[in-house]
Formats: sequence, C-alpha cells, structure tokens
Amino acid sequence: MSSVGKGVTTSSIGRILQSKGYKVSMVKCDMYVNIDAGTMRPTEHGEVFVGSDGIEADQDLGNYERFTGNLSTAENYVTTGQIYLEVIRRERNLEYRGEDVEVVPDIPNEIIRRINLVAKKDQPDFVIIEIGGTVGEYQNILFLEAGRMLRLRNPGRVQFALVSYLPVPKMVGEMKTKPTQYAVRSLNSAGIQPDFIVCRSEVPMDQKRKNKLSVLCSVSPEDIISAPDADSIYEVPLYLEKDDLGNKILSKFGLQSRKRDMKDWRTMVRKIRNAKKPLNIAVVGKYFSTGDYTLADSYISVVEALRHAAWKNNRLPRLHWINSEDFERNPKKLQILKNMDGILVPGGFGGRGVEGIISAIKFAREKKIPYFGLCYGMQLAVIEFARHVGDLRNANSTEIDRDTKYPVIDVMEEQKKNLQEKNFGATMRLGNYPCRVKKNTLAFAAYKASNVIERHRHRYEVNNKYRRQLEGKGMVFSGINPKLDLVEIAELDRKLHPWFLGTQFHPEFNSRPWAPQPLFDGFIKAAIKYKK
Ligand code: GLN
Repeated sequence: MSSVGKGVTTSSIGRILQSKGYKVSMVKCDMYVNIDAGTMRPTEHGEVFVGSDGIEADQDLGNYERFTGNLSTAENYVTTGQIYLEVIRRERNLEYRGEDVEVVPDIPNEIIRRINLVAKKDQPDFVIIEIGGTVGEYQNILFLEAGRMLRLRNPGRVQFALVSYLPVPKMVGEMKTKPTQYAVRSLNSAGIQPDFIVCRSEVPMDQKRKNKLSVLCSVSPEDIISAPDADSIYEVPLYLEKDDLGNKILSKFGLQSRKRDMKDWRTMVRKIRNAKKPLNIAVVGKYFSTGDYTLADSYISVVEALRHAAWKNNRLPRLHWINSEDFERNPKKLQILKNMDGILVPGGFGGRGVEGIISAIKFAREKKIPYFGLCYGMQLAVIEFARHVGDLRNANSTEIDRDTKYPVIDVMEEQKKNLQEKNFGATMRLGNYPCRVKKNTLAFAAYKASNVIERHRHRYEVNNKYRRQLEGKGMVFSGINPKLDLVEIAELDRKLHPWFLGTQFHPEFNSRPWAPQPLFDGFIKAAIKYKK
C-alpha cells in the first residue's frame, strides 16, 4: 500500500549497491494519468519534487537524491500519462505503419523504452525501478506487465522485490503474514514471482514467520528481508544490510561486491542517533491536514533539510506543524510561537491561510525569532515588511489581490500569457537558475560563495519598483538573478533582526543528510543561538 516505504526501500537498495562499488540509476513509475506531479495537490500526492532540470515529480525522487546523491531528471520519472501521450503521438505520426495500436504490448513496450533510455543515458550498472501503487489494483497493471516482459527478454538480468506490510494488530498481538501472502498471489497472477520480499513492520520479523512466508510464497527464507520501523529513514539501508540484501542481489546476478562498504553511512547514522538536545521549529503553512490526519509529506524535502541541518549541529529537531488558518480564527494562538527556536514558512499557492502566515511572520520579526521563508515564505515576508515597516498599507501579491494598491509581489512578465491562456502544466519558472550573492550578508555567511545555483518553482516575483523603498527601511536583497535582475534572496539588516531570510528558490531540494544545505545550516545555527 502507499506510504509503506517503497521509496525508501528503493533508495536504500540504490545506496547499498553504490556502497558495493556499482553505479545505479533510479526510475519512478507513477500510475497517474497526470503528465507530471505539478498539477497534483500536495495533500493528495505529497510534495511536488523539483528536479535540477525543472521536472515536477513524485516525492520519491527526492529520496533517491538524498540517498544516492544522483540528480534525477525528466528521464527518471515515468507516468501513465506520459506513456499514453507518446504512444498516441506516434500513432498520429503513422509510426506504427498501419498496425493496430494495442494496450498490450504497445503500452508496456513504451514503458520499457523509457527504462532503456535511462540505461543509455547514465550507463549505470543497475537501473532500479520503483512501481508505484499497490499490487492487485488496476492502475499499475501495465507497469507490472512491462516488468514481466522485461524479465522475459532479459533472462538473469531482472529481479523483483515486493515491499509488503506485516501488521501486528493490537487485539491479536501477533505479526500477521496473510496480507503479504495475498500480495504475492496477486503478483503471481500478473506473471511475476518476487525474488525478494521486503517486510515492513513495526518490529523486526522473527525466523518463524520468515519460514512460514517462505513456504507459502515460494521465496527462500534468506530472501525474506526484515525492514522494521526505524528512528530515521537513513537507518533503513543498515537494516536491509543486516539481512545482507546487497550481496544477495549481487549473487543472484552472478556478481560480487567490489568492496567498498557502508562505513561513511554508518558514521552518519551514529551522528543522527547521538543528536539528543531538542530544537523546536515551527513550520507554518496550510497543506497539512486531510480529514483528521496531518500530512507532513506535503513538505517532505523541507522536513528532511531541517533534519539534516539540525543533526549536523547535534540537535534533535522537533517540528511543530502549525496551520496558519488557526491564527486567522484566533490571533491569541500566535503566542505558541513564543516557545519556538525558529519559524519556517514553506512554499505555497493561493490566498487561503495567507493572512495567518503574515501574522506569524510579523511575530517572528518583532520578537526576533529566527525566520526562514521558502518561496511563498519569502514573498509573504516581503509583503509583511512592506505593510508594517514600509508604510505600504495593504501591500500584497497580485496572486492574492489582483487590484492591490501596492503590488510588492507581482506576476513575472513571461508568466502573464500562461495564466491568461490557462496553460498551467510545467509552465512555472522551474529548476536550476543562478543567483549572485551579496557580500556581508546572512546569505553570504551561509554559502561562503558569490555564485550559487538553486531550484525554482514560481510564477510571481518581488516587484523591482519597490526594491529601493524597502531597502531604505532595512530589507537587504542579498541574492539576485543576474540575467533577469530578479530577487532571489531577501533578508533583514542584522541591526533589525539576528536571522531573518527568505528565498525565491527552494533550497530544500539540494540538502543531503551528509551535506546539509548551507541556508538551512545557517537557520539552525541561528535557532540554537536564539535558544541560548
Ligand atoms: N505562489 C508563489 C508563486 O507562484 C510561490 C510559489 C511557491 O511557493 N512555490 O510565485
């Protein structure tokens, strides 16, 4: 089922094979008819991960990057929509030369072509393919069919792993293997016998249950891998290695470890475990709740980037999810921000919850609590400053109020046409763009570099008409895109606030557990100082 840990398992296998000296590439097969994740609501599908090339992809690609250090680009993300679009395009171009175009084999063939494309581009030793969805549902059946055909055409060169969940129901107190048995049966009916079963569960799996599953699923007990819940996702490769998954995969391919090991990774995990002093960070936004549940997945890269930076500074990050609409209903609730060591506002769209966010930013600015704004979080910080310090009453973004008297945030010139024509898919300013960093600023202190490149996803920008005026009041535009003269980083003069900074780009996508993103590191350091 979804969220059980396929993405982390896939990423972990990638990391393990790398650590044995092999080059890997990752592919995510997403069953949605959407062309990409850019048009999906984060509470439905989780974060939209932005690649360096500007793809808007499933959040799993973020984990691939955070585990392997590989950069994912458009080739690494396949959706049902892309597959059909290409097959139909070819049909219209007569490329099938008058033949019937059929769901099978033409759709799986196109999926296989896409996988081979990755193999050709990166020349890896392994392509690791994650098939989204649940075995037995209709939506991913053609991806399974592609897998089956791929194995048929490449005997000995394709292996399958099923990631399954083994519940321990409270009223029974025992780990149940039945759902996994059924999952394997369903997979069998798609013509696939798994080589491995990776068993996700709250606690490690015992030998007795491994033996039982083995008999019922025709997978040898050694190939049933226990993947219990871990304190951090970065422990998962170590759990999988406890069952020696890496060498087992290699030996089934007739390969051997080229002898590097997980030493660096182990050292990193030890550091994570030893970070015990808590640091309280508020994340104020609106993509949190679905029904009665809170979905931190909407901001998964932000969460991970905060964790990486906190761990590096020997702190245990405690993240507090705050729905900004609460502040609109009851301004007294702002007082909970007093207990925070730092406040972060992530990216977002539209007007809902915005006034609540602005009041939280005002609180952070006035109480001198470290503030970090990402994209929308930067734009709203500029609006807050314009309204309350810059005397521009009711200043706003034209995204929220088209007729605002002071449009301090305005739509980018090149975006106007897209909005008018409702041309929404993959048309934002996306992916890598350079930013020049001004000396003697918070940004420079963090980056220690004058030229940086970060990933973007936006249509609006700081209106250059107001730059002078805001600078006069103590706002510093410390990062600029040289070509467009567009504000990339805005911060407050250190005389006004110890650490208040926002970025037009999304630095969270470039954070790695072994190399935190510099601005996140700067923010966490400021939070530690503030706490003291
Ligand atoms: N809504 C804003 C824009 O389009 C910010 C986007 C974001 O936060 N990713 O510019």
